[in-house]
Amino acid sequence: MNLVLLGPPGSGKGTQGERLQADLRLPYFATGDILRAAVRDETELGRSAKEYMDRGDLVPDEVIVGAIGERIDSAEAADGFILDGFPRTVPQAEALAAKLSELGRQLTGVLLIDADDDEVMRRLGGRRTCAENGHVFHVDFNPPEREGVCDIDGSELIVRDDDRPEVIRHRLDQYHAKTEPLIDFYDHQSLLRRIDGAANPDAVGADIGRTLATLKLEADEAI
Ligand code: AMP
Repeated sequence: MNLVLLGPPGSGKGTQGERLQADLRLPYFATGDILRAAVRDETELGRSAKEYMDRGDLVPDEVIVGAIGERIDSAEAADGFILDGFPRTVPQAEALAAKLSELGRQLTGVLLIDADDDEVMRRLGGRRTCAENGHVFHVDFNPPEREGVCDIDGSELIVRDDDRPEVIRHRLDQYHAKTEPLIDFYDHQSLLRRIDGAANPDAVGADIGRTLATLKLEADEAI
């Protein structure tokens, strides 16, 4: 299974990606997490990405394409992968297709987890992230036991720079302008499957489970 999770920021791709990783036992590559770790570790990748991320802009295609290409081509991903947050532009999708074809592989499906702008503003505006390890809480939907403190590792909970309301709005504008064209791009290749991200996480997970079962049947029939 070579899967892509597509959708606006805050639609639940991260939550579902982590569930899928456990269920399918496949590596989960979330470019936002990879970039944030690179910024924390002050690597060259992090230094090239930081200013774009803080503004809510996409980092340049060539910066992210190299980083994700290495992971897809690793032993860890030999049986498949789950991509979250990549591709986010048509050139990135073309680079992914080229890399997969070089490896003699192809995408199994692209799951579009959709949510409207108001829902995204509500979800991301209330999100609190653990400063050390990125564990995620929400002031209304998933509050920590002690305000401002991560239940899992006790570190401070912060508002990510890019979860400030004006930056969320900008991230949404970027999504509509640069990432949404991928919906048609993958629909034309019959790879797109739509999932309603406005439902609760368990219902979204169940919907994804049914979709993957169908994708698997289709893949088996094609053999
Ligand atoms: P996320 O956690 O997926 O919302 O990503 C956080 C930030 O990382 C984005 O706002 C971008 O600045 C950057 N980023 C993540 N993935 C990509 C990508 N595929 N292309 C360009 N920038 C990305």
